[in-house]
Amino acid sequence: MITKQQAEAFGAIGTPFYFYDMDLLRRTLAEFQAQARHYGYRGHYALKANAEPRILEAICEAGLGADCVSGGEVALALKSGFAPEDIVMAGVGKTDREILTALEARIGCLNCESVPELKVVNDLAAGLGLKARIALRVNPGVDAHTHSYISTGLTENKFGIGPNAFQEVVDLLPHCPALELIGLHVHVGSQITEMPVFARTCRKLGEIQLWFHGQGIEFQHLDLGGGLGVNYQDPEAEPVPDFKAWFETISRNLPVRPGQVVHVEPGRSLTAQCGHLVSRVTYVKAGRDRQFAILDAGMNDLIRPALYQASHSIENLSSEEPAASYDIVGPVCESSDCWAHQHKIAACHRGDLLAIHSAGAYGQTMAMHYNQREPAPAVYSEDLKI
Ligand SMILES: *Cc1c(COP(=O)(O)O)cnc(C)c1O
Repeated sequence: MITKQQAEAFGAIGTPFYFYDMDLLRRTLAEFQAQARHYGYRGHYALKANAEPRILEAICEAGLGADCVSGGEVALALKSGFAPEDIVMAGVGKTDREILTALEARIGCLNCESVPELKVVNDLAAGLGLKARIALRVNPGVDAHTHSYISTGLTENKFGIGPNAFQEVVDLLPHCPALELIGLHVHVGSQITEMPVFARTCRKLGEIQLWFHGQGIEFQHLDLGGGLGVNYQDPEAEPVPDFKAWFETISRNLPVRPGQVVHVEPGRSLTAQCGHLVSRVTYVKAGRDRQFAILDAGMNDLIRPALYQASHSIENLSSEEPAASYDIVGPVCESSDCWAHQHKIAACHRGDLLAIHSAGAYGQTMAMHYNQREPAPAVYSEDLKI
């Protein structure tokens, strides 16, 4: 929630900008860590959700590790203070350069996503005279019931090693002396709001583990990936996601073997609700059958609506007038640059400040400069002069 004083302080700031409520981020991290400690789980934060320096600093300080999907993210995690052994790296297309970066930094674990990748990692590690700690990222064939662009656990998705290749992995491992297999990893999608999806994933991972056990292969850790969704419709009702329900579902459904550690990789659930994209109304324009509220924030700043048909809760911070209906749109030259159709919101006027809520994950990290637009900067709650 944005307070009245915060909204007043926004008046002096050029728009659009990302506003981060650092108190909410810290509360969210504290709740995550309290629940993680209760269940004995270890969290690695997925940097791709939000990689702003102050956000990473808070997450590192809270004691989480880092989950990376590129060499650039590994470099940033190291620079941000995460210990190398607390960094894991996934990605279907890791280049030799990226693998070398990860190996040379001695990161905790490389989550490998194919048989050819296992061979390359083995060769590169052997060349460096090291053992590569790896996990197998498996594709369990579980439908995440989320938008198709953020589903990753179906056979048609490019991610992970499918059951068709498990035997090949088992046959290959004895020929890869530079690999140390330590984990079994899965991540079936993002913005998952149905607990049964996690339950099915856990049971499926249990079956996969059992199959490998039958082949004489044991894992030190099981990594459940991320995916916990947030409430985009009504963020105020649920500012901190239900980590307890998530972990309870995992603990009830995941067959953990003695001595095994469980890892999770939250991204969105840690940062989405603490971020707001703040924008000004540039024009209110009367169309033939509708009114347009044209904002100075566009799809280049936050691409989720244009890319995933996502919707965000929007609030007029400047007006307490009765609600009117608008197509709320951005300035970018694309018809998909639309925040909401026929949306009821307190009557808008030129210059009003609007907040697009739940913008702290997959917002700033996905920004682009299409139309040669300047990037929206980050503004932190603790820096506001109030
Ligand atoms: C993106 C990603 C995550 C984080 O997903 P969220 O839905 O943001 O929690 C975790 N693990 C891997 C491997 C990812 O690619």
